[in-house]
Amino acid sequence: MKGIVFLGNRQCETRDFPKPVPGRGEVLIRVEATGICGSDLHVYRGKEPSDQIRGHEPCGVVEAAGPDVSRLKPGDRVTVHHHVGCGKCPECAEGEVVACSGGKKLFGVSIPGSFAEYTVAVERNCIPLPDPVSFIDGAFMACVGGTAYGALRRLGVRPYESLAVFGLGPVGLSCVILGKALGARVVGIDILPERLQLGTTCGADAVMDGSKDGVVAAIKDFSRVPFRGDGVDYIIETSGATPARQCLIPSIRRLGKIAIVGVGGTDKVINPSEIHGKACTLIGSVVFRLGWIWDLARFLTVSGTSFEPAVTHRFALDDAPEALHLADEGRCGKVTFLPHAEGDR
Ligand SMILES: [Zn+2]
Ligand SMILES: [Zn+2]
Repeated sequence: MKGIVFLGNRQCETRDFPKPVPGRGEVLIRVEATGICGSDLHVYRGKEPSDQIRGHEPCGVVEAAGPDVSRLKPGDRVTVHHHVGCGKCPECAEGEVVACSGGKKLFGVSIPGSFAEYTVAVERNCIPLPDPVSFIDGAFMACVGGTAYGALRRLGVRPYESLAVFGLGPVGLSCVILGKALGARVVGIDILPERLQLGTTCGADAVMDGSKDGVVAAIKDFSRVPFRGDGVDYIIETSGATPARQCLIPSIRRLGKIAIVGVGGTDKVINPSEIHGKACTLIGSVVFRLGWIWDLARFLTVSGTSFEPAVTHRFALDDAPEALHLADEGRCGKVTFLPHAEGDR
């Protein structure tokens, strides 16, 4: 089967690998959709070559089940949470697989990833896809869409409240889509015209060019509704960029909540006295609980929401160099591989 490896310094190639065999408690998945994520790009830009199949947004159809698999069967459409916890530690018991203390595995890093025709996953991490949820939506749920949902859950965003999303890459666009589906008023901020346009396509009530002066004042204007107006109720920061991080505390209202999702620089741009002054809450939000991907499947189904407006490019595995180059440039929305194109839906 085909699988994509990174060779270091922004080089990659599609190689031939043996088709994997599911072990005890595992299923073999025929991958129908798998997206390129920002964290893939950090590795892609690095110097180290690796023989590991990359990709960590597995979604497709169960083709075979290993011994002791009881819930899934061949033909089931599934998505897969990409952090594979030990399943036995206190953090896994809470569903916080990202914080697993018992030896966590990660798709595309410590176990073979999903940029391939087939991948293997433990049954525990596989979530059935309800019928209206597409394979592309399932790939979003596995990482970027689930991460957006995790931030919104941790913040507790409610209808009619205001949300500013800094950075309109795939995670930020997912925050816009889910924030709107939750009934919030959403403003998106980015510095690239292509991404501002995508913010609008994904349903943002307003978009703002973060490279221009007066963004904080414009966000406060946006927040102006009865009994409010001195900043938004919630912010999700996905860009990791220092200038965006500098806007966070000035743009939040008193008692508001901010989630840091974007990985980025190490500049010390936030002053604890300002957090105290606004009595606001600042949290680090890293991916999402295992249980929340089940909730997200239900949410997408019941609300009729799809992440697909955030997708700008679909590629075959053989197009890896072009796909990775495009995603690395950052001027597009989500770039997705469809390893078996006829499976697109
Ligand atoms: Zn990811
Ligand atoms: Zn664990």
